[in-house]
Amino acid sequence: MQFSYINPTQIEFGQGKISKISELIPKEYRVLFLYGGGSIKKNGVYNQVKDALNNHTWFEFAGVEANPKKETLDKAISYARENKVDFVLAVGGGSVIDGAKYVANAFYYDGDAWDLLDGKFTPTKALKIGAVLTLAATGSESNSGSVVTKGETKEKRFFHSPFSYPQFSILDPDVLKSLGERQLVNGVVDAFVHTCEQYLTQPHGALAQDYYAEGLLRGLTELANTFETRDDLWYANLMWLANQALNGLIGLGVPQDWATHFIGHELSGLYGIDHARTLAIIQPNLLTILADEKKDKLLQMGKNVFKLDTNNPLEVVEKIRTLYSSLNIDLKISSYTEDKDIIEKVTSLLEKHGFTEFGDRGTVNKEVVIKILEKSI
Ligand code: NAP
Ligand code: FE
Repeated sequence: MQFSYINPTQIEFGQGKISKISELIPKEYRVLFLYGGGSIKKNGVYNQVKDALNNHTWFEFAGVEANPKKETLDKAISYARENKVDFVLAVGGGSVIDGAKYVANAFYYDGDAWDLLDGKFTPTKALKIGAVLTLAATGSESNSGSVVTKGETKEKRFFHSPFSYPQFSILDPDVLKSLGERQLVNGVVDAFVHTCEQYLTQPHGALAQDYYAEGLLRGLTELANTFETRDDLWYANLMWLANQALNGLIGLGVPQDWATHFIGHELSGLYGIDHARTLAIIQPNLLTILADEKKDKLLQMGKNVFKLDTNNPLEVVEKIRTLYSSLNIDLKISSYTEDKDIIEKVTSLLEKHGFTEFGDRGTVNKEVVIKILEKSI
């Protein structure tokens, strides 16, 4: 096992923490206040942020959409340059935070910012970022990843940059209370799959990573089972579990398998399906097809997460599928689009993006993807 570990993001967790922004951003910084479609104006978060920025010079840019688009974010970059900002404050879910990372990393770059996503541009400096998280799911508030979609070609791609770690992230669980059930369910599922993609791999014997992942999966399963009776603690647990699922810790020095995410990204790009729902559709079918090679870890998950006494990995996959169904998620792509060319479009985009042999063993090739998609449609 070998790894380097740094997670520089300061976390401020708890009720009423938004006011801390006033101390966390240096007074002389000019701030770009970036947000989405307006949920923060309805739930009071906008006013809390505005009050906290009382002693700063700030500029707002609204309209970062869910599954954020390059075309919108390029406008935010121009606006940030016009106003000579020093700092991007993202107030929203994963989409706004990912958008802030794109803006911050491309701020000093003269070319097309999309080059970040194509791997043609590696930043050497960037604006600093802070986040107020309003939707617990992606872990983007504590990691260096960012996912952006090019509207023109419907390509959804990701990039990592050391400059993308926020300086701070504010996690006030109270702000989650204005989320609809669909988004809350998405949060539970996205965090669950993030954990699985760092856990359901070849066995490696790294106990801290394995047992911590199992703890997170147990916690998320408990949240799914108590969804209808959720209270303050439920929201706080969701916020922290989702953060821990993708802040880098459980994936240190161990194999990872992001195949579900890679296929899911193409489905969101093509059809606008919610990120988490693409994962809930694809993952159980991928695990069914790869049940033999993933047998050891599936059985370990069955025993340690679901308390199942079985030697059949497919029973564990069924538990996962039932968990998603219990949250009222439609597990067929045909519930979201009538397109007849799904397989052709997804496989050709995966090939274009260099995903020809992926998964932690490199066994997810075009043939396997076709089988997964056939089961998923
Ligand atoms: P999101 O796309 O940021 O937000 C979804 C919707 O929830 C938006 O319409 C937003 O409305 C609304 N919303 C957010 N907070 C709210 C609140 N407190 N009350 C009411 N409504 C609220 O959702 P997300 O799941 O966090 O992010 C998904 C994106 O992150 C996808 O593009 C996915 O690919 C990406 N992702 C990134 C990572 C990473 O590590 N960086 C990991 C996984 C996924 P408004 O726009 O009006 O605010
Ligand atoms: Fe995700």
